[in-house]
Amino acid sequence: MRLRSGTGVINGSRRLPAMSLRNRIALYYTGTSAILMAVVFTVIFLTVDGVVYNHFDEELRHEVNETLSDSHVHELDVCDFDRLKEMGLDEAREGRHQSRHKVRKVAEIDPEYVQLVDNAGRVVSKTANLAQNVLTFRPSYAGVRYFTSELGQSTLRQVQVPLVGRNGAVEGYLIVAVPLKSAMIVLRDMKYIVLVSYPIVILTLFVVTRLIAGKSIQPVEEVISTAESISQANLGLRMPLPSNQDELYRLSVTINALLDRLQDAFQREKQFTADASHELKTPLAVVKGTLDVLVRKPRDTGHYEERIRYCLDELNRMARLIDQLLLLARCESDTTSPNIVLLYPGQLIETVISRMTPIAAVRNITLDLSIGYAGNVAADPAMLEIMLENMLSNAIKYSADGSGVSLRIDSLNGRPVCVIEDHGIGIPEAKLESIFKRFYRVDESRSSNTGGSGLGLSIVRRLADLQHIDIAVTSRENHGTVFQLTFPLTEN
Ligand code: ADP
Repeated sequence: MRLRSGTGVINGSRRLPAMSLRNRIALYYTGTSAILMAVVFTVIFLTVDGVVYNHFDEELRHEVNETLSDSHVHELDVCDFDRLKEMGLDEAREGRHQSRHKVRKVAEIDPEYVQLVDNAGRVVSKTANLAQNVLTFRPSYAGVRYFTSELGQSTLRQVQVPLVGRNGAVEGYLIVAVPLKSAMIVLRDMKYIVLVSYPIVILTLFVVTRLIAGKSIQPVEEVISTAESISQANLGLRMPLPSNQDELYRLSVTINALLDRLQDAFQREKQFTADASHELKTPLAVVKGTLDVLVRKPRDTGHYEERIRYCLDELNRMARLIDQLLLLARCESDTTSPNIVLLYPGQLIETVISRMTPIAAVRNITLDLSIGYAGNVAADPAMLEIMLENMLSNAIKYSADGSGVSLRIDSLNGRPVCVIEDHGIGIPEAKLESIFKRFYRVDESRSSNTGGSGLGLSIVRRLADLQHIDIAVTSRENHGTVFQLTFPLTEN
């Protein structure tokens, strides 16, 4: 692994140096706006440019038409070149202006330049305002052509019109030009303004966007600083909720809910460790105390035997507790997944019953099995066996000597059920909810007398959840308890 600080090389792959979120937002936004503005400015500029040239071209067309009509030529392309030549351009145009505006001096007022060239390119006639100057003639241009040209210091827009005689041959060209000066100034100024204002606008946009982005992500900074300050010691701390119910609000709510769950789990783990050590400490203290007393002075063999047996019972209880703790830890770990198969429950229950019969027999308790459902159930055989064993052992533990415990396999609303019913001491209704909690015992004294640790039913609940088996319990004090397992539906 290579890790070089500053350059951003991690695991051999090159990464860009980290850029803050506000800078990234500002950069993306400004970048997009810059492209958009460049496109809009270009379109506007080209449109204005086109409109201006169109306007001049329109004016030129008008001028050509007027010049030709004043020389009594009726069609644009077909004219009497000689007549136009004889008449002289100033005369032709003056006639037009006089007829229109009565007294206008063409050379003084008219900004248009007109020039007549023959088909060899020689200037035949031109308006007086051209003085010594000659308009550009482009012999290679066929048909009517508009183009931009230079005349001394000024730029001109001009049109070149071929004059076709009655015989169909081009006899010469009429060239009309107007100065573009004012339009050029407008276009140049516009280009200048756009070019200068563009970077200023973009820079301002970046600064403003960065400010707004910084303000918008301010709650994120608060979430970060709160999250940084949360540790095991102050797990109760929560993210401040922004006033707007936006994505950041949802993020804070989600993180708070996560912290709630973590705090809960952490609390449960702490409680579990405290309970487990308490449960283990009791038999250890009993064994230690008993042995301490025994070694103080010599005793007779019978006393030794009785005390050793007592210690062994306590050690067995401890071993059982450790087994249950390990089992609970195993089935609570997320990696545990049940191996669910379709199995015939009757056989499995018979196995459990035969294992429990000697224990029940000691107290003269009978175990009955009735099978009203012949199908299979979906379960993990090993897990189901542990569940049945725990529930059956409870039923025996909390039953009166000489009573009976019954097991039934049936179907209810199409789903297979297994019912374990005893006629023992029962569970007070208010405590039914709690019996599945870890280390919970309805009555400390009666439970510890029977060697209970309060873990059996929490293991049953966890295993049932893993296999999607529903558990229901009903009980009446001094009448008995009924546990019912409802298996998931299967296609068998
Ligand atoms: P324990 O090892 O103490 O029996 P469990 O988790 O198996 O722990 O049971 C929790 C509590 O529920 C027991 O302490 C007991 O008081 C009560 N309980 C469980 N099953 C029965 C039953 N069949 N009859 C009466 N009480 C029961």
